[in-house]
Amino acid sequence: MSDLDVLLQEDRSFPPPPQFSAQAHTAGADIYRDAARDPDAFWARMARELTWIEPFTRVLDWKPPHAQWFADGTLNASANCLDRHVDGPRRNKAAIVWEGEPGDRRTLTYWDLYREVNLFAKVLDRLGVKKGDRVAIYLPMIPEAVVAMLGCARVGAVHSVVFGGFSPESLRDRINDSRCKLLITADRGYRRGQVVPLKRNADRALEETPSIENVIVVRRRPGAEGDLAFPEIVEGRDHWWHRLMHDAEHDGESFVREPEAMNAEDLLYILYTSGTTGKPKGIVHTTGGYMTGVAATTKYVFDLKDEDVYWCTADIGWVTGHSYIVYGPLAVGATCVVYEGAPDWPDKDRFWQICERYGVTIFYTAPTAIRAFMKWGTEFPARRDLSRLRLLGSVGEPINPEAWMWYHEHIGGGRCPIVDTWWQTETGAIMITPLPGVTATKPGSATVPFPGVSAALLDSLGKEIPEGGGLLALTRPWPSMLRTIWGDDDRYVQTYFSKWEGRPDLYFPGDGAKRDADGYYWILGRVDDVLNVAGHRIGTMEVESALVDHPAVAEAAVVGKVHELKGQAIAAFVTLRSGHQPSGELRDELREHVAEKIGAIARPDDILFSADLPKTRSGKIMRRLLRDIAEGRALGDTTTLADPGVVASLKEQYEHQE
Ligand code: ATP
Ligand code: MG
Repeated sequence: MSDLDVLLQEDRSFPPPPQFSAQAHTAGADIYRDAARDPDAFWARMARELTWIEPFTRVLDWKPPHAQWFADGTLNASANCLDRHVDGPRRNKAAIVWEGEPGDRRTLTYWDLYREVNLFAKVLDRLGVKKGDRVAIYLPMIPEAVVAMLGCARVGAVHSVVFGGFSPESLRDRINDSRCKLLITADRGYRRGQVVPLKRNADRALEETPSIENVIVVRRRPGAEGDLAFPEIVEGRDHWWHRLMHDAEHDGESFVREPEAMNAEDLLYILYTSGTTGKPKGIVHTTGGYMTGVAATTKYVFDLKDEDVYWCTADIGWVTGHSYIVYGPLAVGATCVVYEGAPDWPDKDRFWQICERYGVTIFYTAPTAIRAFMKWGTEFPARRDLSRLRLLGSVGEPINPEAWMWYHEHIGGGRCPIVDTWWQTETGAIMITPLPGVTATKPGSATVPFPGVSAALLDSLGKEIPEGGGLLALTRPWPSMLRTIWGDDDRYVQTYFSKWEGRPDLYFPGDGAKRDADGYYWILGRVDDVLNVAGHRIGTMEVESALVDHPAVAEAAVVGKVHELKGQAIAAFVTLRSGHQPSGELRDELREHVAEKIGAIARPDDILFSADLPKTRSGKIMRRLLRDIAEGRALGDTTTLADPGVVASLKEQYEHQE
């Protein structure tokens, strides 16, 4: 493909607040310069901040496109998250401050978590789970989910967490793809006041998962009434979590289960991508490099201190939950808020109520959530005291500049830096991001690569584009990179390292971006989604951001549809903020607004107002389905959609508009 045409201008810039800079981990050092001088030495230094059982002497072995990091060292991920804290002053510090959707609460100190993980590791031993075995985890956002992950890591089992909102079929396919031996689930979870019958869903999956030998079932809410509290228990196969833990605790031996010494390149986990573009891929992460990447980024991107109360609102079913709820924050000894449920239950201020209740200082969420907050209105955050917040983060999709500004003003009180973090399941850790306290931010830009990470903008021939739009590439290996796709190394090579002929050293993430005169990156969306209007290649993000810039619009998704003259015409799907109604007048106004902001070329041909947009279960807009609708095709794969009803009704509406 040719370069992307860059249309949208965004000139606002926010220098880091001096008080923030003065207290940041980065104060008094130039880690960009250090890392640029010798990236491998920088990563080795970051790796040495972990606790190793056998220290490494080798840093990087790179046989493109396969990398190994710290390959002769051994360590254990759970020991890095727990053991090293319980021997010091963090022993009685809150590790997890948990709140269930119905309002139940639990706090686990580092010591509590250490004890639980050890006991659970003993449970895994007794069930015959060995190093390298795969374990599926299908749980709500409860402390047991963290215990299960770290318990697996402790014994060297490879976890595969499947988001609790996925269907039995999705669970079945993920279990079978990596032949998991054990499944860990719960009788129920809660979402928007509804009971999610996890064990029942799991039972349907289990009809066709021959590799599963045992199932562990957490009782989510002992004492709560309801038939779901007692799902069917298959004798010999299904075991209650609390019984197994009780037995492990009373076996007459120490509760300590020594952490397995894992080679840095031994598998830590498999995680399936969210499926925005098609069939999910089983991404493989190993131990040493992954822990190095997540610990270093957690420390510097979130500037985490012992006094902080950190809340990442992701689900542990996604990579953001793995890296920035579990492994990164616990490795650096943080206090983490974990919340089970929806942001609008029982009311639309639930998140702000939680921030106020626990005095959250660092808050990390996704643009889809921010756009929902915008849609609901400012009265909800205004009800709560958010004055403890000192840093905000965004991840998952490009954030439209207007959503960024809203977040900055209404959540951050105009004082908190925002870190817009670009990365992927495959990259394991944050790749492009500001460092708060160092990097000036621009609304809508993920800014610059993290120290030790090398990015570039390339054209289709691999030639570097210093300024303008093109294909994003990562040009050096990094410790937390995926090692392969489970069971399909050819697909690994094909998908990520074959974009540029004869250059198996260049990683292609699938995203298009622009680079401005300051060298800042602006992610313009997935290359598969790029629009081609009369020979101009336009990122979806630009047109969407122009729409969201209008005061009536909360969220927008645009796609190209075949057009006889222009090649493609632009179809826009638009969600309005509360207090605004769809009308023909507003439609014309929005078309003109886009034309004014970025030029007549980007004026949408169709605008459809909609209460909702089709999203993956991780909350990302699925443009490929909107394209199917706009072009009147049958819908493609919808299995990773959060709510298939949304596309069905959009399709119907689209077909019946005049
Ligand atoms: P699949 O690969 O199965 O289609 P997915 O790409 O949505 O699913 P993830 O690994 O969860 O799965 O998401 C990574 C993608 O999310 C990135 O490639 C990018 O398109 C988008 N993304 C994540 N963070 C940002 C960000 N800060 N700015 C812009 N885009 C982002
Ligand atoms: Mg992807």
